[in-house]
Amino acid sequence: MYNTDTAINEKKGFIFNIQKYNVYDGPGIRTLVFFKGCPLRCEWCSNPEGMESKYKVMFKENSCLNCGACAAVCPVGIHSMLGGTHIINRDIDCVGCRRCEEACTEKAIAITGEYKTASELLEIIEEDRMFYETSGGGVTLGGGEVLMQADFATELLKVCKQRGINTAIETCGYANKESILKIAEYTDLFLFDLKHIDSNRHHKLTGVYNELIHENLIELLSRGHDVKIRMPMLKGINSSQAEIEGIIKFLMPFRDYKNFKGIDLLPYHKLGVNKYNQLGKDYPIEGDPSLSNEELDQIESWIKKYDFPVKVIKH
Ligand code: SF4
Ligand code: SF4
Repeated sequence: MYNTDTAINEKKGFIFNIQKYNVYDGPGIRTLVFFKGCPLRCEWCSNPEGMESKYKVMFKENSCLNCGACAAVCPVGIHSMLGGTHIINRDIDCVGCRRCEEACTEKAIAITGEYKTASELLEIIEEDRMFYETSGGGVTLGGGEVLMQADFATELLKVCKQRGINTAIETCGYANKESILKIAEYTDLFLFDLKHIDSNRHHKLTGVYNELIHENLIELLSRGHDVKIRMPMLKGINSSQAEIEGIIKFLMPFRDYKNFKGIDLLPYHKLGVNKYNQLGKDYPIEGDPSLSNEELDQIESWIKKYDFPVKVIKH
């Protein structure tokens, strides 16, 4: 039993979002908790505010009145006024005091990153217990990368399991084996990303090679943990027949395992573009790598040919 007395000495997790009533990331209706920090730098990331394990200032320039209220309260000088114009210095680390967010009457500033205990998160997760029970849902931890905060995430999932709440994590799989096996004890389903089969290409696209990811996936599947594969789909990046069949060949030894739960295709979408602007970053992808419905159907049929359960997830 988790009670408030234990909360005093509790560890805290660094999170950047909580999303309720999600129906895409695991079975049933789910609450998603997004963990901050990720070891990968995927060009197409739709949550760039979750990449770094630091507070981040998101700023809507169009909403700003250049009133200077934020500059007056920022203790580290991130906000300043220059010739009547509000300037943000992104070379200075934000300390997360949120004074600027509170001072801005126009809601032009949002600070991402918040420390929460497992008890605090559990309370939020528990609010929707009725939905989990009627839909077969639960909680999914995503990010960023959950396993960057493996101890805290494991603790959180452990208390969820103790309360009978279904658990899932969405992971890039780039973590040490020990931490992934530890969290697996309390994880009902892994939503495990495979982004590119070729390790050099994987490195170019994400900043890391894929051998460790593959080793962890094999370990989870071999030990009987439930795993669903997720493949982000981007035209001209990882969607050719050879690239898809490369992944299928890699997964073939596990196709008939009971704990292999199939493949989700996640079509690229541009939802992250505004966030890059608000973070003062250039959007890393040139052109539009979206796939048409026909192209997605084609990819689905290449996978089905090998008798793999596959679904295109359309948000
Ligand atoms: S949260 Fe605090 S430190 Fe960060 S930018 Fe705002 S006022 Fe400055
Ligand atoms: S407080 Fe808000 S409106 Fe005023 S300068 Fe800062 S961001 Fe702009």
